[in-house]
Amino acid sequence: ELVQEKSLIGCSTQTEDGYKIKLYCNIASVDDIQEVLTNDGEGIGLFRTEFLYMNRIKPPSEDEQYKVYNKIGNMLEGKEVIIRTLDVGGDKEISYINIEKELNPFLGNRAIRYCLQEQKLLLTQLKAILRASADTNIKVMFPMITSYNELIQAMSFLEKAKKELETRNIRYNKGIKIGIMIETPAAVFNSNHLAKEVDFFSIGSNDLIQYTCAVDRMNTKISYLYTPYNPAIIKSIKMVVDNAHREGIEVSICGEAASDETLLPLWISLGIDELSVVSKDVLSIRKYIRQISRDKTLINKAIELKNKDEIIKFLS
Ligand code: PEP
Ligand code: MG
Repeated sequence: ELVQEKSLIGCSTQTEDGYKIKLYCNIASVDDIQEVLTNDGEGIGLFRTEFLYMNRIKPPSEDEQYKVYNKIGNMLEGKEVIIRTLDVGGDKEISYINIEKELNPFLGNRAIRYCLQEQKLLLTQLKAILRASADTNIKVMFPMITSYNELIQAMSFLEKAKKELETRNIRYNKGIKIGIMIETPAAVFNSNHLAKEVDFFSIGSNDLIQYTCAVDRMNTKISYLYTPYNPAIIKSIKMVVDNAHREGIEVSICGEAASDETLLPLWISLGIDELSVVSKDVLSIRKYIRQISRDKTLINKAIELKNKDEIIKFLS
């Protein structure tokens, strides 16, 4: 029976046998929210804040950022909004941020690495996020983490931002949830330790594929190697989910692999808590998930397979 996607607005995203996930959306600006609401996205799993910093001559002030974050939080009416701190560098250039010319920008001074050196830039953003968390359901997330110490350092910035707001008598959510993106192989292997320090993980499969397979995500000549069907990716994601769940924290996938229909049964098999996708895909994914049942054995069979062909054959 053909279920009209529109009829799934207001329905939960769960398998036929009742396994429920959160189906969230990726956004880059306030302008994307209407489409999230129209397509019944259940929250924002990734707000890429880079775009706030682009097409201007200096970084947005704390007030400017606060207004944007608060507006998004309000528009979502209590649903969760995960705000990722500035992920500059690599494929994301910002004119006034002068990262020195590097031979390998994707391996260079980008994202959290840059922000940890630019105290003021990161503190300003964290204060804006914290302020907006006072009356909304906002969580904060750090990109490109590779090591435990990097995370501890990022969290100390958040503490500093909280202190500064307290000195100014400004309200924020004292229990704001903190997460990190797992998008480097180092973060995958360190995820047992990282899971003890944060409230959630979000797997950035776009970068995770790039760094695990050593294939530039922008280079079309080698794009045949850029695939979530490399068994290394599936094994990595399994390791991350297992380590997250051992510590009782939630884990999401927010890269494009989250909306790959062939892989969805695997994510469900693994017990993924959340998927964050482009809003136009929400209803088709919900429809698909509602038609399958959870098979917990799928993942253990999949990790025994040796290449993309075997994985595709097995899953289809
Ligand atoms: C990712 O790396 O998968 C991700 C979601 O972040 P971005 O695409 O912005 O790097
Ligand atoms: Mg990324």
